[in-house]
This record gives sequence, C-alpha cells and structure tokens, in this order.
Amino acid sequence: MKINIRYFLDRIANSGDCLLCELPAGRHQNLCRHCWNSLPKLHNPCQLCGLPAPPAERICPRCRRKPPPWQSMIAPLVFTGDTRRLLLQLKFNEQLLIANCLASRIWPQFIGRDIEALMPVPLHRERLFERGFNQSLLIARQLGWRLGIPVDHRSLVRIRATEAQSGLSRNQRRKNLSKAFLYQPRRKWRRIALIDDVITTGSTMEACCRVLRASGVEHIETWSLARTLKGD
Ligand SMILES: [Zn+2]
Ligand SMILES: [Zn+2]
Repeated sequence: MKINIRYFLDRIANSGDCLLCELPAGRHQNLCRHCWNSLPKLHNPCQLCGLPAPPAERICPRCRRKPPPWQSMIAPLVFTGDTRRLLLQLKFNEQLLIANCLASRIWPQFIGRDIEALMPVPLHRERLFERGFNQSLLIARQLGWRLGIPVDHRSLVRIRATEAQSGLSRNQRRKNLSKAFLYQPRRKWRRIALIDDVITTGSTMEACCRVLRASGVEHIETWSLARTLKGD
C-alpha cells in the first residue's frame, strides 16, 4: 500500500473512500475496517507509558518504580509501516484528511475518560509559521468534535523554539525543553488530555505536564494517534 500525494489530492473531493485501499470506508470514515485492522497495534500496552506491559498487567514494572507525571497514556497505533507513512503525510500534506481518517477509527478508544478539555501540544510560532498548521490541533479538533469535548489551544503555548529533538538523549531532550512551555489558562481546568500526533520519548509531554501541574491541573492524560516502541 503506497501513499501517493496526487491520489490524496484527488481524495479530498471524495471523502468516504479509504485512503489506503480506495474502497468505500463507511459514513464519516476515511479508513476501511480491513485497512484499520491491518495497521500495527500494541496488545496490552502499559496504561502509563504505552509500551508493552507483561501479560495480564496494566502497568509495566518501569512505571511502577517511577510513574510518569500523567495519569494515563493512550496511543492506539504503533508508529511503523502504514501508520508511520500516514502520520508523516499528516505533517507535510493533506493534514485535514489524514487527521480525519485516523480520528474516524481511533476516537472510540477515548470515550468515557471524564476529560474537561483537549489541549494540543503547541508549536512555537516560528514553526507554526513555517508549517502553516499544528497537526496536534487538527487531531484535537477531530477528537473533540467526535467526543463532544472542547478544545483549548490557547492556554498552553510554546515560548521557546527548541532544537530538533531527534538524535538527543533523554536528558538532553529534557534540558532542551525546560522552560519551553507557558500555561496561562483562560479558565480553571481540572482534568485535561494533552494531544500529540506521535509520542516518542514522552519528554515533550513531561515538559507540558510540569507547567500544567504547577497551575493546579489535577488529572492529565496523554493522548496520541501513535507511539514509537522505543522508550528512550
Ligand atoms: Zn482500506
Ligand atoms: Zn509503563
């Protein structure tokens, strides 16, 4: 299943067909059941870090020793194969269609979480200007619309443009991200979900959690479309 840009452009006018195989995908869907089933998923992920947990356990030994600063992580897909290709396209092309395509299949996994607002991980304004959109906001909007949860994309802002994170160690990432975010809530949220397209080390989420906690947010969940399998 190769993804080709021209094909995607054609599909904009014709949503309702599967982005991967072109067959009808169903109402409000852009990914058919067969292609959705074939995307790589993790069975029995740890509820806190999204990485494989031992059979029949909800929390992995690593998170039991040192829990992350959030209460739950949900990342339904593994960032590899067609999922990886779709998400890379999401960053650079056809954002709305792909955000819709993945959200159309994924949103039921986020039902019933008792969350007051969805908060996309913000981009620095320079990056936003270069790219023209924040892919996390597109995903947050898609999920918010389906789940009936408001999206707050103004309270959490990125005040420092950080260097590219890839290739940095966990500690270097943490340092790179310290003081990168500012939280100035428009209203007092108690339970929020941070939204990102892909979670790699979780360093970005940790940096966001720090400022949210400091302002009294009690319950933070981290939601993304996909997770890389390497924790560091
Ligand atoms: Zn399909
Ligand atoms: Zn874990």
